[in-house]
Amino acid sequence: MMQPFLPFTRPSIDDATIARVVNVLRSGWITSGQEVQEFEQALSQFFGGRHVRVFNSGSATLEVALRIAGVQAGDEVITTPLSWVATSNVILEVGAKPVFIDVDPVTRNFNLELIEKAITPKTRVILPVYLAGLPVNMDRLYSIAKHYNLRVVEDAAQAMGSTWRGHRIGSIGDLVSFSFHANKNLTSIEGGALVLNTKDEVHLAEKYRLQGLTRTGFDTMDVDVLGGKYNLTAVAASVGLGQIAHLENFNRRRHALAQLYFDGFEKKEAVKIGVELPIANFTNTNWHMFQIVLPENRLSLDRAGFMAKLKEFGIGSGVHYPVIHLFTLYRKLGFKNGQFPHAERIGRNTVTLPLFPSMEDQDVSRVCEAVNTICAQFTK
Ligand SMILES: *Cc1c(COP(=O)(O)O)cnc(C)c1O
Repeated sequence: MMQPFLPFTRPSIDDATIARVVNVLRSGWITSGQEVQEFEQALSQFFGGRHVRVFNSGSATLEVALRIAGVQAGDEVITTPLSWVATSNVILEVGAKPVFIDVDPVTRNFNLELIEKAITPKTRVILPVYLAGLPVNMDRLYSIAKHYNLRVVEDAAQAMGSTWRGHRIGSIGDLVSFSFHANKNLTSIEGGALVLNTKDEVHLAEKYRLQGLTRTGFDTMDVDVLGGKYNLTAVAASVGLGQIAHLENFNRRRHALAQLYFDGFEKKEAVKIGVELPIANFTNTNWHMFQIVLPENRLSLDRAGFMAKLKEFGIGSGVHYPVIHLFTLYRKLGFKNGQFPHAERIGRNTVTLPLFPSMEDQDVSRVCEAVNTICAQFTK
């Protein structure tokens, strides 16, 4: 019998959150207001008391972070080509130049040992991405940043609840940007949060968030920088508030499911033919995604074919991500095939398997069985 379709991700929104949203909608004040400030306070508490401001997307958050870090036209920002394109688009958005470095094929994050060679007099910011929620070596990252006097803008979009040496990502570090898009470990439907260092940075964040306005009363209102329209709505904030209490449980469940994936693949067909599993990190990561990388030249179907087969088994999957530098816009800027071979190979062959808190244990067995069966059937 055909089992119900298993998507690769699905948000968990409880009845209390739905009731909270209804209350906001009935209150007559549905955009930025009380709920937004409460969400910021709850997040600040989550990040060990650091300053936090929320935005209407993780992309807006990252862009504002770059502006606060002082990135200007002509500056360079060192980052990874293996990420959601937003990571790099915001660098272009502020007039700067993305300088990509290749990834470490084991962690799939950018290789910290390549940073120093990429630094020039124009480098202003290092922008790490914690793919699937796995942080980089923060000690090494910050020692490089300190040595070269660079700011760090962390794209921690996927790393809500991840840790480094027992400290939550966001509770340490320089400017740390999160996304609350529907697929992330904590969602506000759309949204993002920026963790900041000082009151001055908070004022800047508020200005960049809303048209550059300085808030000193109606008659003395002024605009002294160019800001965007990036404020979060109360409806979105109320969803985020409803989620935050569950985050630790969500992430514990993700860990358990990830462990089941490793069990389900151990010594089985997929691994035998060279399917690469993620690094088995159960200390730092929040298991935002469980991604396998298909072997090149071992299967008689390509990735699209593999994903179509999974779909026949009633299983959804995703691609996170095709490398950024080979998109047309970036090729026009001069980037080429072959520049970042590890990132390119992973970008061509990565498949994100279902992983979300409301999944059942049996769902993981089902996915592993399907992957192993397809691999056995289509081995060259
Ligand atoms: C989701 C995501 C973003 C952008 O967040 P949005 O809220 O979708 O704007 C940026 N970087 C990474 C790595 C992401 O996963």
